[in-house]
Amino acid sequence: MSKAISIIIPTYNEGGNIVPLVGRINKAMSAYDYEILFVDDDSKDDTAANVEKLSKTYPVRIVVRKNERGLASAVVHGILNTTGQKVLVMDADLQHPPEVIPSLVKALEDGADIVVASRYVEGGGCQEWGLFRKLVSRVSTIIAHVFLPPTRSVNDPMSGFFMFDRKVVENAKLQPRGYKILLEILMEGEFKKAVEVPYTFVTRDQGESKLNIKQQLEYIRHIYSLMRRKGELWRFIKFCLVGASGIGVNFGIFALLTRVGGMKETDFLALAIATEVAIITNFILNDIFTFRDRRSSGHFLTRLLKFNVICVAGALVQAGVYALLYHAIGIHDLVSYLIGIIIATLWNYLLNTWITWR
Ligand code: UDP
Ligand code: MG
Repeated sequence: MSKAISIIIPTYNEGGNIVPLVGRINKAMSAYDYEILFVDDDSKDDTAANVEKLSKTYPVRIVVRKNERGLASAVVHGILNTTGQKVLVMDADLQHPPEVIPSLVKALEDGADIVVASRYVEGGGCQEWGLFRKLVSRVSTIIAHVFLPPTRSVNDPMSGFFMFDRKVVENAKLQPRGYKILLEILMEGEFKKAVEVPYTFVTRDQGESKLNIKQQLEYIRHIYSLMRRKGELWRFIKFCLVGASGIGVNFGIFALLTRVGGMKETDFLALAIATEVAIITNFILNDIFTFRDRRSSGHFLTRLLKFNVICVAGALVQAGVYALLYHAIGIHDLVSYLIGIIIATLWNYLLNTWITWR
């Protein structure tokens, strides 16, 4: 008979973690009708043997994949090979404390479609993470939030510990790659309500992490793939094209004011007027071209005002980056200038997708 909750746990060489993991899950879940499916990437240790032993006492089983690899595809494999209406995904290495699971179930029962165990809400966190890993995680999260707007429904879209109602993925075309299957589900799944429950990502005790630089690059490729599929890449390109057109407007107005309009080329007002006109034409183009589908996010004039403030601040950011790189650090002037433009463009895109066209 079908269980109510299917717990999917990808494994690769997690032999030492299986027994304590199953024990703790069983204790936390004693009140629920659940099963555990381990999806194994052909471990070289006693992972499978340990699961087999436990299957005599607990509702656990394992499928060993011989030809396929990878965390995200393992989860999809697990989804296809279970039937529980509620699906939970977690790691095998006890970094995701099983004691948190009942609060995920509760949130789902209370009406959420997706529940994410989150490091980035009040009460959540990471145990003993170095500054570098923290930074990498934060930057990766910001990248997802900026370029894939639906991921903004949660603070921790990179979490590997989450639960959802099976209907969320029923019609989803999941293309699993890399590590971050939640990203894929948030982008391709159908849901109304996503909520987060805090948890602390615990330091690994047994076995070792399989996360490496290759996975980080795979993450960028995954973001790119989702952007392409969801039209967000084209949106970003449109934003850059509009920005480039603004340079032409800016230049043209400045030339007009100083050559025809009789203003002096040293006159700050000429620069200010030319810049402001370019900001306004950029706004109009972005509003009808880049963010056509998001114009309901506020009154036209409110959007214009927000865009204006963000772009002026962006110009200051660009000047600041230039001052820092060229004057303070001594990097080549044109390189410094180019980096300033890139950072200001990202700044403008980030804040405008966040604030102006939500
Ligand atoms: N894992 C897997 N296949 C892989 C890599 C990892 O099934 O190719 C499993 C691993 O056994 C663990 C989970 O995915 O249960 C998370 O991996 P890991 O702990 O290495 O990642 P980290 O926590 O360091 O991000
Ligand atoms: Mg881990």
